[in-house]
Amino acid sequence: MIPFLDLKKINLRHEEAIIEGMRKVLHSGWYILGKEVEQFEYEFAEYCGTEYALGVANGLDALELIIRAYNIGEGDEVIVPSNTYIATILSISANGATPILVEPDLLTYNIDPKKIEASITHRTKAILVVHLYGQTCNMDPITMIAEKYNLKIIEDCAQSHGAIYKNKRVGNLGDAAAFSFYPGKNLGALGDAGAITTNDATLYNNLKALRNYGSHKKYENIYKGYNSRLDEFQAPILREKLKFLDSDNEYRAGIAQYYLENIKNEDIILPVIENGDPSHVWHVFVIRTLYRNEFIEHMLDNGVQTMIHYPIPPHKQEAYKEWNDRSYPISEKIHSEVVSLPISPVMDHTDVLRVVEVVNEFRTC
Ligand SMILES: *Cc1c(COP(=O)(O)O)cnc(C)c1O
Repeated sequence: MIPFLDLKKINLRHEEAIIEGMRKVLHSGWYILGKEVEQFEYEFAEYCGTEYALGVANGLDALELIIRAYNIGEGDEVIVPSNTYIATILSISANGATPILVEPDLLTYNIDPKKIEASITHRTKAILVVHLYGQTCNMDPITMIAEKYNLKIIEDCAQSHGAIYKNKRVGNLGDAAAFSFYPGKNLGALGDAGAITTNDATLYNNLKALRNYGSHKKYENIYKGYNSRLDEFQAPILREKLKFLDSDNEYRAGIAQYYLENIKNEDIILPVIENGDPSHVWHVFVIRTLYRNEFIEHMLDNGVQTMIHYPIPPHKQEAYKEWNDRSYPISEKIHSEVVSLPISPVMDHTDVLRVVEVVNEFRTC
């Protein structure tokens, strides 16, 4: 069986460094917001090209805290793609603000900049872009709209660690950005973890307090804050794996390139890269087919595990009952046709060849 993602194999490459890092934290005697978190924040900011990075507990918190720090809440609207992972939308709802869903481009699966302006009202405060599946959004037109209407740009970089748009890395393309280090992401911890990047010193200082009960100084609270800190034990693991992020992403890109050049099947629609090469870090390799169930079964019968990112669009979720009657046709089409093929930094060449062979053998009749 070719697994969709072999996380154990990914992490065992770093076994010695991980154990050494955990021993270091154990022996430090300092287990919350210590030296390792601080070092990781420094290194991650440097990697992204931003002034600041701040470790938090997970990706959803990173998004939620940014929105909170910008004072976006009750009565405010935030523009967000209709086909993102639910967490992006939950971060807006959690602050009492209203998510305004905007349809994606069917070629790239990222928010369609041409559709944003029609959704802007006097209540709109921010555009929350998602670099979905690892590909950067088309930022130039989005930045122009944000400037025209004086909106914040918040990036959801949970799937795009390291992706580059016109010489800048994601995390440095807007006002503030959220990262998740959930184990399966391109940069993954061994548990929950996340980070925020920004060049905004005021925002950074507010967030530093917000993640720590709203306190800069022990027992003095200036905000009704959260407890959302990056775990000290995750920090050395992330520091070690960050050194390999670029080479891992390049390896993923090599597999993607091979898939793009060699998958030849009329019933399979391949992904499209919009902004040149390093703009896609291939968190997942997503194809589309009208015959999804048959395709998944065919792959499985031939020993290839696939996944769906994602089977139900946010507006059809029970959690958002109030939206269930709405129609977002592009999003619905995407959610009903997408399938993700295996891609990872530890996938063998023979497995890559085999996936192509099995995909090319798929016949609908
Ligand atoms: C994974 C993910 C999140 C949430 O991150 P967690 O660390 O699991 O909270 C948010 N947005 C997107 C697009 C994601 O893929």
